[in-house]
Amino acid sequence: MRRLMVAGNWKMHGSRANNAQLVNHILLADLGEDGPEVVVCPPFVYLWETGRLLRGTSLALGAQDVCAAAAGAHTGEVSAAMLKDVGCSHVIVGHSERRALYGEDDQIVARKFMAAQREGLMPVLCVGETLEERESGRTAEVVARQLDVVLDVAGAGVFARAVLAYEPVWAIGTGKNATPDQAQEVHALLRARIAAQDAKISACLRILYGGSVKAVNAAELFAMPDVDGGLVGGASLNGDEFRRICEAARAQAS
Ligand code: PEP
Repeated sequence: MRRLMVAGNWKMHGSRANNAQLVNHILLADLGEDGPEVVVCPPFVYLWETGRLLRGTSLALGAQDVCAAAAGAHTGEVSAAMLKDVGCSHVIVGHSERRALYGEDDQIVARKFMAAQREGLMPVLCVGETLEERESGRTAEVVARQLDVVLDVAGAGVFARAVLAYEPVWAIGTGKNATPDQAQEVHALLRARIAAQDAKISACLRILYGGSVKAVNAAELFAMPDVDGGLVGGASLNGDEFRRICEAARAQAS
C-alpha cells in the first residue's frame, strides 16, 4: 500500500564531476514500475545541475535544509520557493546534524516543515534519539516530542504530504545501524501517535529508517512492517552501494 522511498543525503560532499558520475551510476538501478521512489539530496549549490541530470528520469531532487522564512534579509539562507524554483520536490528538515551542529530546536524544525509545505515541497522530517537518551530509556519520549511539535501546530493532516524519518543519532555515520526490531519498535510507535489523531493518514505515511543503512542490511530493515524505506547518508555517495539499496527496496515492494 505504501510505496517505499530511498533518499540519498549527500551531506557536504561532492563536486560537479563526481555528482555526474554518481547520478549515472544510480540510474543503472533496476527500479521497475513498482519500485521505490528515489530521491537524491545534494548540497544547495549542486541542486540545479543535478536536477538537470535527473531530468527525464524517475529520480526526484531534494534539498538537505530550508529556511523557515519565506524571503528577506536572511544572509546565507535558501527559501522553499527557491528550492522549488530549481526543481526540488523534497526537502529534509530537522536532520540531527542540523539540530546538534547548528542549534536547530523543535520549534524551528516545525517552522521549516511548514515553510516547505507552503511551497508544495514534501518535507522529510527527521526524528531520533541520542545514545544517552536511548540508554536512559527515553527514546519514546524524545521522538514523540520531536513529532508532537509538528502535530501540535499543524495537526495530523499535514502528514498526508510529508515523510517521516526515524534516525537514531547513535546510528548516523557510525556504521552501527539499529537492528530491524529496534527500528520497527520506534516506527510503530510513531505511526500509532499519528493514528491517534488520524488513522487513515497514519496508515499511508511513509516512515523511513536512517542510520548506517547499507546494501548488506537494507533488505532486513525494509522487510519490517512499518519501515517504508531508508534515508541514506554515507552509502548514498557510493553509486553501486546506493543502487543496491534501491534494488533491495524494489525487491521488498514486489
Ligand atoms: C543521514 O545522514 O541521514 C544518515 C542516515 O547517514 P548514514 O547513512 O551515513 O548513517
